[in-house]
Amino acid sequence: MLMSAADYRESLRRYKPRVFVNGQRVESVADEPLLAPGIAATGVCYDFALAPEHRPLMTARQATSGKIVNRMVHINENSTDLLNKLEAVRLVCRESGCAMRYLTHDAANGIFQATKQIEATFGTDHHARFVNYLHRIQDEDLTVGVAMTDAKGDRSKRPGMQANRDSYVHIAERRPDGIVIRGTKAIVTAAPYVHEFLVMPCRTMTAEDADFAVCCAVPVDAEGVTIVARPAGRPGETAAKFSSKYGQSTGVVMFDDVFVPWDRVFADGQHEETGQLTTNYATHHRHSCIGARAGFGDLLIGAGALMIEVNGLDPDKHGHVREAMVDLIKIVEGFFACGVAASVYAVKDASGTAMPDAVFSNIGKLLLATQIYDMHRLAHYVSGGLVVALPGPDEDHNPETAGSLAAVLAGRADIPAASRMEAARLVEDLTASHTGGWMSLISLHGGGSPEAMKREIWRNYPVGEKAAMVEKLLDRGILDEGQRLSKQPGRCCATGCEVPKVTRLEDAAE
Ligand SMILES: Cc1cc2nc3c(=O)[nH]c(=O)nc-3n(C[C@H](O)[C@H](O)[C@H](O)COP(=O)(O)OP(=O)(O)OC[C@H]3O[C@@H](n4cnc5c(N)ncnc54)[C@H](O)[C@@H]3O)c2cc1C
Repeated sequence: MLMSAADYRESLRRYKPRVFVNGQRVESVADEPLLAPGIAATGVCYDFALAPEHRPLMTARQATSGKIVNRMVHINENSTDLLNKLEAVRLVCRESGCAMRYLTHDAANGIFQATKQIEATFGTDHHARFVNYLHRIQDEDLTVGVAMTDAKGDRSKRPGMQANRDSYVHIAERRPDGIVIRGTKAIVTAAPYVHEFLVMPCRTMTAEDADFAVCCAVPVDAEGVTIVARPAGRPGETAAKFSSKYGQSTGVVMFDDVFVPWDRVFADGQHEETGQLTTNYATHHRHSCIGARAGFGDLLIGAGALMIEVNGLDPDKHGHVREAMVDLIKIVEGFFACGVAASVYAVKDASGTAMPDAVFSNIGKLLLATQIYDMHRLAHYVSGGLVVALPGPDEDHNPETAGSLAAVLAGRADIPAASRMEAARLVEDLTASHTGGWMSLISLHGGGSPEAMKREIWRNYPVGEKAAMVEKLLDRGILDEGQRLSKQPGRCCATGCEVPKVTRLEDAAE
């Protein structure tokens, strides 16, 4: 059953989570104004799946059940699925800034793969448990938050070496009917208004840290769970053109001896397999982040173009603003192209899940992580200082100043000052407000800090193959002879080179 945004909001009433925002206990998440922009943003994933024009992108058929499910809870089977997911994430984030629910997708795909591995190694029923759980999430169309980033404590020490063991979530007790978990996940997007959490380790664990290698599902209102969250976006702020409507909350989630029955436990100490889970989730998530930030980029490109227009400039006549816009477009479509390449060069693993290519996923995420600041700069460049200097919206209705401000703050003669102010406030909201900062930080650190991506690129890139290739050429003396190399396979010399074997989806399917 696919829910609408309204159904989703209503469904939150079935849960009674222990939530605090700005120091106050939230009695009803569905009715809390400070969380409303987050519920609205997540709701976009629901309404778009029901809209006929978006349905092909926003829904998919789940292979293990044969049912039509929301794309944000689907397990990918091929390149087309990955491309559709990438486009779907871009679509919902273009509308909402960040629609969050793709995290559910990324976790579901990563856990599907890891539990299959656990089953293969240990002969347990972890995979069957997860498939049952997945089908329930899909059938009830639930949103699941990703509780992965632990509080971590002293970053130089492993989990088991921390002064406070609770800085990482861990198994505190094993019982015949399940496990008891304790600890803190420090950054969980949308925490107050998800239905459940998927708890996963945020790093690879050693045998000594096996109790920290835990993956399980916990309802948002399970006994012992406390969520301390920030407001979603900028609720109630009239200057917040965008983020008073759409935004995301992040929460610290504390697990204080939370009991998890076995049918919700997907890893309980299998530290090598949870290492793979962390990596697989990260690859799926970085691929999704590319779509998400491309959607945000669409907003910036549109807002920048509007500002140029209301300022009275014409990009065709004023080359420097056109150049800035082209730079912005180059950045956004440049990292998005990595997402497309990662989808096209997907590989299928033993579980049947299509994995986006790790090198392209990580490069795309790395590009957006560092270039988000250039995206903001370029939006500021074409817009002007008004973005942060414009008097607040209360002045729009001040009889003593409104008229004279409107008279002097207009740009192009045929566009009212109010339209220019509105466009400037939109750019401020997206790039220079708390929301702008949030967008920078989620781009930089969300899905892992840049160093994590660099490690993955180095780990996965076939540097050895490239070195061997060059060595081969040197042995033949091709470089000595000063010959040019052709990029066409088999045409670089008389006998022909061996084209490196790359397992693509099509190969794997054979
Ligand atoms: C807006 C936002 C939303 C997010 N949403 C979620 C979510 O829904 N779920 C979730 O699980 N996570 C979420 N995250 C968390 C995100 O994955 C982390 O921010 C990221 O993994 C970095 O971890 P950290 O913030 O603890 O930074 P830190 O780990 O403290 O890193 C800070 C710096 O220190 C470096 N560093 C850290 N440890 C070491 C070390 N041992 N050796 C050398 N250098 C080190 C890092 O490379 C980095 O440069 C979100 C983050 C943001 C900003």
